[in-house]
Amino acid sequence: MTTRTPLMAGNWKMNLDWKQGLALVEDLGDALKGLDTSAVEAVVLPPAVDLRTVQTAVDAGKLPIAYGAQDISEHESGAYTGEISGAMLTALGATYVAVGHSERRQYHGETEQVTNAKVKAAFAAGLTPILCVGEALDERKAGKQVEFSLAQVEGGLEGLDAEQVARTVIAYEPVWAIGTGEVATPDDAQEVCAAIREWVRTVHGDTAADAVRVLYGGSVKSSNVAELMQRPDVDGALVGGASLKADEFAKIVRFQD
Ligand code: PGA
Repeated sequence: MTTRTPLMAGNWKMNLDWKQGLALVEDLGDALKGLDTSAVEAVVLPPAVDLRTVQTAVDAGKLPIAYGAQDISEHESGAYTGEISGAMLTALGATYVAVGHSERRQYHGETEQVTNAKVKAAFAAGLTPILCVGEALDERKAGKQVEFSLAQVEGGLEGLDAEQVARTVIAYEPVWAIGTGEVATPDDAQEVCAAIREWVRTVHGDTAADAVRVLYGGSVKSSNVAELMQRPDVDGALVGGASLKADEFAKIVRFQD
């Protein structure tokens, strides 16, 4: 029996200006009222311009969630136009940051090395990285989903100690399932999530493997989340599109209801 607390994270991506973000935050406050935060951890990853809005609602006790950013600079501070540092995020009360999302890798040329540097920057700032990995359709068709995803896990976690790995959240997000409506089957999700935990067990030991939270992401909805969550190595979900509607995200967060 695991003691891992399920984690349901909403990645708003590049959606919602500050007014729309404020409206969603208010609706989420209502939809998540009374959430048992000892049973499940809810997280939102809004665009940076919405972080202050989320912080204000959380500080006022109106939103029972943690929050974080969708990206982080690998650098500490200085002349890096357009970037946002880990220290800036922690100053806003953020505790999580997504790193290595397939959209960052694909559209912004983020290499394994950059991803690893960002994971380290997250830890240096006291943030928990949500390291995203996952194969594209070609690799899946070739039956290489485990091999490919583990290579990204290994690259992303390079140089970390077992204690850091234990605190990392790893999100398995097959690229072919992201934003397509084509969710992985629970067995497909379990296969790769279990392989990730086994990799952690082999390299970093039992304590890290039993503690590390492995999420599934890719077209998660309220209608498919419960079945995914029944799999023993799926500890939560990283949700894109469905996290933009308060009622739908609240249902996902309460996957057991
Ligand atoms: P989706 O996105 O839920 O819209 O498929 C998931 C993600 O990219 O995190």
